Amino acid sequence: MPSKRKNGEKMLRGIPVSQGVIRSRAVVLDRTRIDPAKWGILESDPAGEEDRLQASLVETRRQILAVQERLREAMGVKEAQIFDAHLLVLEDPMLIEEATRFIREDLVTAEFAFHEASEKYAEALSKVDDAYLSERAADIRDVAQRVLADLMGQAPCTGLTDLTEPCVVVAHDLTPSDTAMMDPAMVLGFVTEVGSRTSHTAILARSLRIPAVLGLDKAISELHTGESVLLDGFNGFVVIDPSEQTLFEYGQLVDRQTSIEESLEVIHDDAAETRDGHRIILSANIERAADVEGVLQCGATGVGLFRTEFLFINRSDLPGEEEQFAAYCKVTESLAPDPVIIRTLDLGGDKLLSHVNVAAEMNPFLGWRAIRLCLQEKDLFRTQLRAILRASVFGNLKIMYPMISGVEELEAANVLLDECREQLRDEGVAFAEDVEIGIMIETPSAAMIADSLAKRVKFFSIGSNDLIQYALAVDRLNEKIAHLYEPTHPGILRLIKATVDAGQAHGIWTGICGEMAGDLAAVPLLLGLGVSELSVTPSMVPRVKMLIRSIEMSEARKLAEFALNSDSPKEILARAEALAKAAVPSFFEGTA
Ligand code: PEP
Ligand code: MG
Repeated sequence: MPSKRKNGEKMLRGIPVSQGVIRSRAVVLDRTRIDPAKWGILESDPAGEEDRLQASLVETRRQILAVQERLREAMGVKEAQIFDAHLLVLEDPMLIEEATRFIREDLVTAEFAFHEASEKYAEALSKVDDAYLSERAADIRDVAQRVLADLMGQAPCTGLTDLTEPCVVVAHDLTPSDTAMMDPAMVLGFVTEVGSRTSHTAILARSLRIPAVLGLDKAISELHTGESVLLDGFNGFVVIDPSEQTLFEYGQLVDRQTSIEESLEVIHDDAAETRDGHRIILSANIERAADVEGVLQCGATGVGLFRTEFLFINRSDLPGEEEQFAAYCKVTESLAPDPVIIRTLDLGGDKLLSHVNVAAEMNPFLGWRAIRLCLQEKDLFRTQLRAILRASVFGNLKIMYPMISGVEELEAANVLLDECREQLRDEGVAFAEDVEIGIMIETPSAAMIADSLAKRVKFFSIGSNDLIQYALAVDRLNEKIAHLYEPTHPGILRLIKATVDAGQAHGIWTGICGEMAGDLAAVPLLLGLGVSELSVTPSMVPRVKMLIRSIEMSEARKLAEFALNSDSPKEILARAEALAKAAVPSFFEGTA
């Protein structure tokens, strides 16, 4: 809701999804496509138009090489290679000849001719049912926009890769793959019009420690490139032209938060144990092998969720067995003997491969996702399973399947895993025979048949992000219904309790790796419900650990008992928050 303040500054509010305060210049990402009008030229002009086109091709090449160089420095050679295909488009003789022919024969401007020629090719390629060719169509369209912008003297439609200085990015939407490519030195914070707390864009923002506000309605029209903005990722505010007083107040908030962080360093090596002696495993969620450094720094016990799909996105090919093996090894070996839970591919939903032509789905979160996709794309799955098995000899590795909704899926996945074991044995390749297999409990059906599933696995990890969206029928990405996304809904708490009870009855442990595990108000409640492992984003590990060390299991159990007998999500939340606030009051000062 936009609002004006007395001192002239303007304050907007969205959903706070990633903590931190940033003051910088706003850059609004403009994805409006350039569509040049048809203008004729004189019969004597074609040579001049051809020269203009050539000059723009050269200039665009220079721009792309500069972007590629920046990306190479920030993210590495592989990510930068994405632009190789763009450079090839600029040299494509057929495309250039076609545009030149239009100029000469139809007597049209260079921009119209190039637009026509590039659209003709892109259209033809995108009609062929071939993933590689449709990716080339997208490349042609992207490059054509840059050439057209240069020809028409406009700024090219600004994408994340065009940023030239540190800023706060403002966009209608950013996909998880956009966010995964962000360079935190350039993107100091970001604001989007859509999205909510448990979208993967939000999760990645927390993982990269980039302050972010999502679901800020009309952000694109309210904010302008070049404006000075202050982004408050604690409370969801964006202040345009902040006053001295506002800057002073935020300076104090930042100082308080920094001193809290520093004070938590003393518990780095301590266990996550309640005051009355109940030990909880507190582990970390990661998205990339490089995140292992953050796990070591934050004082977590291993990794409770490695979202391996981020190895697969933002690239023009699939990672092979060796590349995956190296990534899984690095994490497992660096953290040994602490456990590392590698979740098999959870593609689909809002995490899509850029180069595989998957038809758009009406309801992607209910569609071809995670284990469902893997059980059909068996080669893709086998490659991953082989890489994980091979990495298992380097430490304490466990395998976890996502989105299991019934026993058959689990058994089908295990059949493929057994095939991979058999192959590796035949090849004489080492792997740990006793690798533990667990599943995510993130569909209501899995929670309800947890007793059947518990007989077949060694652990459960509750994926509350999905469990909540599926059980409450609330899209986790949709800011319009974010207020209905209630982790303390009694229906959710009962599903969690049923899962824990079924696990305990069969002698297996239940953890939770959804965002609820890092929500301070929810932590005592989860402990009271009997969850024995919490896996959270590394930046939250010290606070969650301190909170656990500040409460008693007996009060957590009382809270859970109250919650299981309550009808009101709000009442449960209020009680849960009160307990957490009483335990660690400073964590809540100045934050929503
Ligand atoms: C979850 O659903 O809670 C979970 C951890 O998986 P993801 O957020 O990757 O869907
Ligand atoms: Mg999930």
